[in-house]
Order: sequence, then C-alpha cells, then structure tokens
Amino acid sequence: MCGTCNGDTNGGAPAAAANPPSQSTTNGVHSAQGLPKSSPYQSVQDYISNVNSFKIIESTLREGEQFANAFFDTETKLKIAKALDNFGVDYIEVTSPVSSPQSYEDCKRICQLGLKAKVLTHVRCNMDDARKAVECGVDGVDLVIGTSSFLREYSHGKSMEMIQKIALEVIEYVKSQGVEVRFSSEDSFRSDLVDILALYKAVDRAGVNRVGVADTVGGATPRMTYDLVRTLRGVVGCDIECHFHDDTGCSVANALSALEAGASHIDTSVLGIGERNGITPLGALMARMVVTAPEYVTKKYNLKALKSLEELVADAVQINIPFNNPITGFCAFTHKAGIHAKAILANPSTYEIIDPSLFGLTRYVSINSRITGWNAVKSRVEQLGLKMTDEQVKEVTAKIKQMADIRPLAIDDTDSIIRSYHLDVVQQ
Ligand SMILES: [Zn+2]
Repeated sequence: MCGTCNGDTNGGAPAAAANPPSQSTTNGVHSAQGLPKSSPYQSVQDYISNVNSFKIIESTLREGEQFANAFFDTETKLKIAKALDNFGVDYIEVTSPVSSPQSYEDCKRICQLGLKAKVLTHVRCNMDDARKAVECGVDGVDLVIGTSSFLREYSHGKSMEMIQKIALEVIEYVKSQGVEVRFSSEDSFRSDLVDILALYKAVDRAGVNRVGVADTVGGATPRMTYDLVRTLRGVVGCDIECHFHDDTGCSVANALSALEAGASHIDTSVLGIGERNGITPLGALMARMVVTAPEYVTKKYNLKALKSLEELVADAVQINIPFNNPITGFCAFTHKAGIHAKAILANPSTYEIIDPSLFGLTRYVSINSRITGWNAVKSRVEQLGLKMTDEQVKEVTAKIKQMADIRPLAIDDTDSIIRSYHLDVVQQ
C-alpha cells in the first residue's frame, strides 16, 4: 500500500522526497519551454469562448445538501460559506428558504455575513417561493421549472404556455425587488429544443440576468453541450449558466465545452457532492481551467485554499477525498516509475500538466519500489545529506529493487537500506 500523502505541510517524511527547483513562470504555470510550436493541447478559443472570463456559482450549500450524506447545521453552513468566499467563488447558492423553517433562517444568516460573493437561492418558479426568497435578503433568485416531457407529464403537469406565463410573472416580480434573476429549465437536454429556445427568448426579453441550462440526469456529452449552448448563445443576449450532473463522468468536460460555446457561469460543488453522484466538482474544474486559462484562474481564485476547503466539506459529510481526485488526491503529484522520476527531477513539466505549488502542494518522487531508478535514489541520497558516487548509488538502487521484489516498502525501509549501505561504504 502506498501510504504517502500529498500534503501541503510536508507532513510525514515522504513529501520531502523530491522538490526540484521550480520551473514555473510568473503566473505559476509550468514553463512552456520545450513545448512544440503546435500541439493538440493548445486551447481552442474564439470570439464566443468565455474560458478567460467565466464565473462560478458554488452550490455546495444547495445541490450539496441533496448529497446522500449531507446534513449541514447552521454553524457548518456559515463555515462553508466563509471558506467558499475566501476561495473567491463569485456566487454562493443556498437551499430554498421554502424547504424548512431552519433553511429560511440559515438563508438569512448567510445573507447577513457580508461576503464578497453574492448569495443566491434556488427556488421553484412560483410567486410564493420567489417572495420568500426575496424576503431573506438574497442578491439573486434562481428560478427553476421542469420543461422535459417527463417532468411536464409526471411532475408538475404544466404546458409550455402555462410555464411561460408563470415565468414572466415571477421574473417581473423578482426584478421589481431589485435583485438578480436567473431562469432555468430543468432537464434541458431532454426538453424539446424549439420549446425551450422560445421560452428562453421570452424570458431574455423580460430582462433576466441569466438563463440556465441543466443536465439534470447527467446524460449530456461535450458535443451535445457545445451544440445546445452555441445555439442558445445565438438566441439570447443575457448570460448563460450551466449545471452538469456527473452520472456518466462528463461533468467537467461538459463545463469546458459550455464555456467554449459561450456559457458564462458554471455550477459547482466542493468534491462534486449533490443528488446521486453529484455535479461538476469545484476542484476538478479548477484543475481543468488552470490549464486552459492559467492567468485568469491564478489571479482570480485563492487556489492554495482548495485543499482545506475540500477537507472542511469532506469532514462535514463524512467522506474521504478520493485517491484520484484532481489536485488533492493523495497521489495526484506522486511520480513512481524510474523513467518518469529522472525527467521530473530535471524538469517537472515533462510529466506534470499542473504545478502543485500553485495549490500550495508538493510533488513526491517515490523510490520505494522495484520500478524506481537510480536518478530518483540519488536525489533521496542527497536529501539525506549522504555522499555517494554514481556507481554507489546504482549499487544501492539494485539493493532497493531486490528488497522491493520481495515485499512492499515504505520510505523508512528504503532510507534504512540507503543508510546502512552508506555506513558500509564509509567503514570500508
Ligand atoms: Zn442538480
């Protein structure tokens, strides 16, 4: 078992195993030195793309409350709201105040925190819900109504004409109260395209700040997303918000496609928690966007706060951070194969697309296995303050491999192999 940790404090010896000189540029992203003149990694950008200007609507306190394990008491909600604000998200979306008396009180408390982030609440598209939302002092109201044939038939039973009539009334009311308003269809991708485009056009004319596209069942692909958002971009003048569930593992890719197609706002939650297996995770979206739009992301978001934010939420809902989580998974920046380690030690960008130091983290080159190489071992020898020739390092590497063929090794095991070999050499 690999028990190392990708800590920001060098907690535990392994994290100190390799920290080569930073190859970062001033914006902190790995230097482009050595990159080919053209490559498939070059980002696609055109006049409609918003990859350099997107905003985050952070929904841990709304969508996240729909996560199977979630129960947020008031104190926890306040802590999470402050941590999200410190991270720099643009909006914090909270559970509808209509859900329960405590939800109503909590919504008010979060509005009174005086955060930099705007506070939104997500309510059904009807006058009673909208009035309650405005009463709480929110900066914006996110209206939602189901438009797919499934929802129209099996949920609320309203026709498209009826939906439009109600929507326009509620939008007019919210606007008259001087707060932002977003109108979203639910299950947008399984709604009739002509129907929802007509509806969005009408609400855009009524002056909404944003329209929302929601992949409520998580079935959309990046290409479907691009097509729908691109079409919508040609129909409305307002901002476009997108909400992607992760049932088929496409939530981050869909978010990127949406931004490339002209969407302006992406819904996220910390660690992706939400209904079923959740939505676009904030951290994974940051990993994607720090590569796509490094300057924008590094200036705008407090990336070094990501790990503690994820730990706060993981604790609150009693889950572990997954081992393969982008950025903060325990092996996200662990290099093991000897051939990788050699190159990483010479120039980290050879095998890393993201510089861990941007997130206040360190990379770790593992030497505790039979696939290690002598360059990695040499680096560890130097860290231990020992002097050996290359020939000696190669010899001790052979000993490590011999032992690693028999049983799994921890860093302490390899360190003691190195130290006892060194002692033998000195005593000779
Ligand atoms: Zn959702």
